Amino acid sequence: MEPASKSVSVQFVRQYTITEHICPVCGTPFSGPKLRVYCTPECVRKAAWARHGAEWNETRKAKRHESRSHLSQGDNS
Ligand SMILES: [Zn+2]
Repeated sequence: MEPASKSVSVQFVRQYTITEHICPVCGTPFSGPKLRVYCTPECVRKAAWARHGAEWNETRKAKRHESRSHLSQGDNS
């Protein structure tokens, strides 16, 4: 004898406090969880670039220079 099965729909409600923010990148007002700072992942990326872009570029430049000097080691006579 098979056990009777029935489907039950369950709904979960996640509760967190929604607060009003203004995105520091694009200035768009939005509401979201308290810890949220930027309105979209796009703005998160932009902000990260604004903060670290210079040093990331430096790292990139250094790496490129490194690989270039490594490549041109043979032909500097
Ligand atoms: Zn934004």
